[in-house]
Amino acid sequence: MTLKLCQGPACHTYTTKDRLKGPAGSKTYQTRRRSSMYYGKGNFCSMNCYNDWAETFIDNAVDHFGRLTDPKHLTEENAWIKDYNWSNGYDNRTYVYRNGITNEQRPLTEEQFRDSNYTLNER
Ligand SMILES: [Zn+2]
Repeated sequence: MTLKLCQGPACHTYTTKDRLKGPAGSKTYQTRRRSSMYYGKGNFCSMNCYNDWAETFIDNAVDHFGRLTDPKHLTEENAWIKDYNWSNGYDNRTYVYRNGITNEQRPLTEEQFRDSNYTLNER
């Protein structure tokens, strides 16, 4: 089992008992090591560590991967949203594809609603 290190730059400064390691007399607080972590796609042991990383590195990361300089546009062709039609009440709801720009609705089967690959969007 491979242990991963938490990528939080200040993980070792949180003085919890589980981080205090080493032989008696030379114990240190250490970055957490886990087989799996739940935050930031498994890179961080806690939201604190995730936020510490973001505070420290997010500007560099955004610049590295490409900062947006113009707004993106969601056009009519890609504005289809899976939705319920509740007009006949919860028990008789029907599934619909609703266009978020034109408000046009098209019928959708429950199977199509649940199929994450089914889409009217062109992408
Ligand atoms: Zn951590």
